[in-house]
Amino acid sequence: MRRAYNAGRWDAARTHASHLLLRPSEQTLARSVIVRSYWNEGRFQELVDSTEDWHDELSHSYREQAIDRLKVTGGAKKLTMMKEEKLQRLRDEQPKPKVPIQWSAEHMDANYSQEGSRVWFRYPEGYVFWDMPSDYELQSTHPALLCLTAEVLLSPWISSSKGPLPKGRTQGERASLSFSAGTDSTAAAAVMDDSTLLGYHRRSFNSMLDHRNAERLINHLNSTGEREVLSISSNHELIRTNHGKPVGFSTDFACASHLLLLADHFDLGAIGFGMPIDNTYLWKGRKFRKFEETQYYTYWTKRFAQAGLDLLFPIASISEAGALMIVKQSSWLEHLNSCMRGDGINGCGRCWKCFHKNGPLGRPFDITSSEIQTFLNKRPMPTATHALWALHIMNQEGQVPDLSHLFTSDLSWWTQVYPPAYNLLPDRWRTSIRNSISEFLKDMEFPHYLEKINHFDE
Ligand SMILES: [Zn+2]
Repeated sequence: MRRAYNAGRWDAARTHASHLLLRPSEQTLARSVIVRSYWNEGRFQELVDSTEDWHDELSHSYREQAIDRLKVTGGAKKLTMMKEEKLQRLRDEQPKPKVPIQWSAEHMDANYSQEGSRVWFRYPEGYVFWDMPSDYELQSTHPALLCLTAEVLLSPWISSSKGPLPKGRTQGERASLSFSAGTDSTAAAAVMDDSTLLGYHRRSFNSMLDHRNAERLINHLNSTGEREVLSISSNHELIRTNHGKPVGFSTDFACASHLLLLADHFDLGAIGFGMPIDNTYLWKGRKFRKFEETQYYTYWTKRFAQAGLDLLFPIASISEAGALMIVKQSSWLEHLNSCMRGDGINGCGRCWKCFHKNGPLGRPFDITSSEIQTFLNKRPMPTATHALWALHIMNQEGQVPDLSHLFTSDLSWWTQVYPPAYNLLPDRWRTSIRNSISEFLKDMEFPHYLEKINHFDE
């Protein structure tokens, strides 16, 4: 029994122990082996069931702890069920087209229809829609764009959405940007040409997300004519809720599904994403990688090209901090706030965005808030390089005493440009983006410190 227990063979240890339960001299030891082995395996229900009539101290104490554990997991299960029911209700409430569409796993472009200015998309579990400009025509949209839209929405679950794209779309002339009105995409908008079309995705149903901060900047850009921003309402963030995920984008590129569908309407030749170094050359913001060699980059660049579009990463050369420095120097700063829980003007001061986006801009936040503390105490720390820089410039290094060794080098390079990233930009768009960025920020010195980053020795 002891040997089995010490070797972690819990089942065998319990079998031996159960034979000894009736021997008074062995009973205490036998009970403790049964209790501890169930505990070690996390089999709390069995532990509770088998100790019902055991009143010794050890069995009693483990039994109480097991009951607590069961309450916690039971509570978590109940919460998940409540969330699931709420999402089901939300999906049930969504509108449906007047004329049904038959789902086709084979022909992705056959899953669309248009009723008025609303474009419908059929997917296996239901329908989603986009409300397009009134003169939009689905039938004048190249099928490659429809298939690529289906792929960015369904590829995690429907492998046939990754099939060959119909050929023959001619690349358009105008660049566009998937625009969230947050700091990164605003910095991307600032370094792209004035003629860039900014596409804002507007969640069509109510949620915790507050659009007012975004609308303030969008109204400013549209009313001054500095940029053209198009807001498109859609409910496609519900697709992934059919797969046990919360409301959100199916893939990183789903946030541009409206621009893909509008690419012929606006003669688009490129779609940009405001992805900073933290997500390109750094893996999870904490370990250097050659972004251009990742499967992510090569695969999606090829797919967009097959639909006559350049996939652009205009701020792949700069970090979140660089993006902050750009918006700080722009006239848009006073109209911008990345916090999605603010009152329409200010940030909430208590979320992670308020700490790492608003804090370095000199805006108020509460370092003791539970969300900010949770993120700061996670290891590896999320968006670590940026968070370290933010802690450093705000004199808050003391918040993470175990990471003090990461503050020994000078972090000023983090707000500078990593020039090799310019090679990701197709010739046609490179010069103007490069010139704009260099008006705002200096290049990093060579050799590039960025390439050494691996904060947690992974
Ligand atoms: Zn906030």
